[in-house]
Amino acid sequence: MPVYVYEAQCPEHSCGRCRGGFEVSQSLSEERLKVCPECSSPIIRVIQAPALGHSQTDLHYRAKRAGFHTLKRIGKGEYEKMY
Ligand SMILES: [Zn+2]
Repeated sequence: MPVYVYEAQCPEHSCGRCRGGFEVSQSLSEERLKVCPECSSPIIRVIQAPALGHSQTDLHYRAKRAGFHTLKRIGKGEYEKMY
């Protein structure tokens, strides 16, 4: 079953679950979600690259996200990884 990633459309009207994005496994015939199951605010489906395997995509996705949010600029062209 494919796993889809959903994310809050407006981060200011989101709960802890949808703010950072969450994964839902749905069959192809299921309708895509339009609102967060927790807080009912509008969500969008995030398109992911075609998967070779679930866990791999998952990891890449997480790594990418983590990288985005955790890089801190410490100097000219230098970035420090924050954990
Ligand atoms: Zn939510």
